[in-house]
Amino acid sequence: MVLNMETIIADFEIIGNPKPFGDSDLLSVRALTDNTVARNNNISNNISNPVARNASHDNAQNFRPTIQPPYQPPPVYKGRGAVMKNEAPARIIPIAALNPYQGRWAIRARVTAKGDLRRYNNARGDGKVFSFDLLDSDGGEIRVTCFNAVVDRFYSVIEVGKVYMISKGSLKPAQKNFNHLKNEWEIFLESTSTVELCPDEDDSIPRQQFSFRPISDIENVDNNSILDVIGVVTSVNPSVPILRKNGMETQRRILSLKDSSGRSVELTLWGEFCNREGQQMQEMVDAGFSPILAVKAGKVNDFSGKSIGSISTTQLFINPEFPEANSLREWFDLVGKDSASLSISKDVIPGGTKNEIRKTISQIKDEGLGRSDKPDWITIRATISFIKTDTFCYTACPLMIGDRQCNKKVTRSGNTRWQCDRCNQEFEECDYRFLLQAQILDGTGLTWVTAFQEAGEEIMEYSAKDLYLLKHEQQDDERFGEIIKSRLFKQFMFRLKIKEELYGDEQKVKITVVKVDKVNYSSESQYMLDSISKFCRQ
Ligand SMILES: [Zn+2]
Repeated sequence: MVLNMETIIADFEIIGNPKPFGDSDLLSVRALTDNTVARNNNISNNISNPVARNASHDNAQNFRPTIQPPYQPPPVYKGRGAVMKNEAPARIIPIAALNPYQGRWAIRARVTAKGDLRRYNNARGDGKVFSFDLLDSDGGEIRVTCFNAVVDRFYSVIEVGKVYMISKGSLKPAQKNFNHLKNEWEIFLESTSTVELCPDEDDSIPRQQFSFRPISDIENVDNNSILDVIGVVTSVNPSVPILRKNGMETQRRILSLKDSSGRSVELTLWGEFCNREGQQMQEMVDAGFSPILAVKAGKVNDFSGKSIGSISTTQLFINPEFPEANSLREWFDLVGKDSASLSISKDVIPGGTKNEIRKTISQIKDEGLGRSDKPDWITIRATISFIKTDTFCYTACPLMIGDRQCNKKVTRSGNTRWQCDRCNQEFEECDYRFLLQAQILDGTGLTWVTAFQEAGEEIMEYSAKDLYLLKHEQQDDERFGEIIKSRLFKQFMFRLKIKEELYGDEQKVKITVVKVDKVNYSSESQYMLDSISKFCRQ
């Protein structure tokens, strides 16, 4: 079977009995110049439809009523010397109609996302690659990928939001691990491909296409699914640095989204999103305004209930102008802002901060927290009332055992060096680590808690080393006392891990501070308002 043949020499002897194949052949024929079309049709009609032998040009047109205007690609074959080819212009087809068996095609579509330029190294050497996503007026989506020399041609040309006419490229099965668009194919541009900016604004092509899922749906969605969600941002946590597995530092920011489904969900922003959109939303929320956020292509994860995280192709739209956003805003202003919603994200990650289980100090005893198999993780807003100063920190072994620091308590050996009994080594410098014991209190009672390194630093605002040297080397008791005193009666959000442990033959509830945060008074007020309205409904 021969597909998409072209007539190079129009009037010539016909060999054999070629038959036109389906619609596509006729359509591509139509794309030729009028003169050629007429002759071409005569040829095919001569063969396949003797009755229509004398069909006029007009009749031939009637024969194909739904044809789109032909697209004229730039004359790429001009000036190449020997190649004498009658280049048939490709016609514009919907993205949804693209398939690998088509010869010539053109699509007209808007760029909805543009990936970063990535460099790679494999067995065949170094290379570079970038991808962008297209959306056309019929709602078809497809990813386009360029490699190496093709990257040089198109990377700077492609801009998000602009409309392009694209033709010639090969279609390959979409790599579903990376590509979540609703298309089983992906376009690979080649050296003969053309990408042309359409200068006129084309309103028939939407800026972006969403298929929003209600938050209550996400509860039952598989892990790693990619989906679109829209919600009201009710809280934004500060951006925090996170060390990734590859040793690179990145930013993380967690915020809460709620919608009219009666559920809320945690959205984790990574990297650049934290400082751009994340910062913008934080400022809005701090100013008492709850923005609407549309998330295109968020990734569902399930390590603590269900939550959504950003990936490199995620797009965020703050206060977008479309019907879903407007009705959500209406709902929030009328009902939503005063209604409690159940979170589908259970934050059990140590150091996580949102959607926490809030308790009071008296509830620790009253509810017997820490007595089950797993520790209880709770958040308490409390005030520091006492800090134990004799054993606030210890001298720790800095050596690494595998990928973890030894951290065993070390002692002086001789005059200056430190000795670790576990590692059986001596060294000049040791590490100083907090082991801070403090009493915290809220309106219901008080309790002892233990804070290790990071939490200790957050409470004291000094490093363990500075305080240790001040107390034990400089022996400046007055300054040391002042620092301790300055930390008393400060209020914090304490994230606590509570677990009963055996000490000798005695069961003791051990309460560890895993994170200390400054009180965010705007979200605290919201929390109290929510609690009051919940209480009033009971
Ligand atoms: Zn050691």
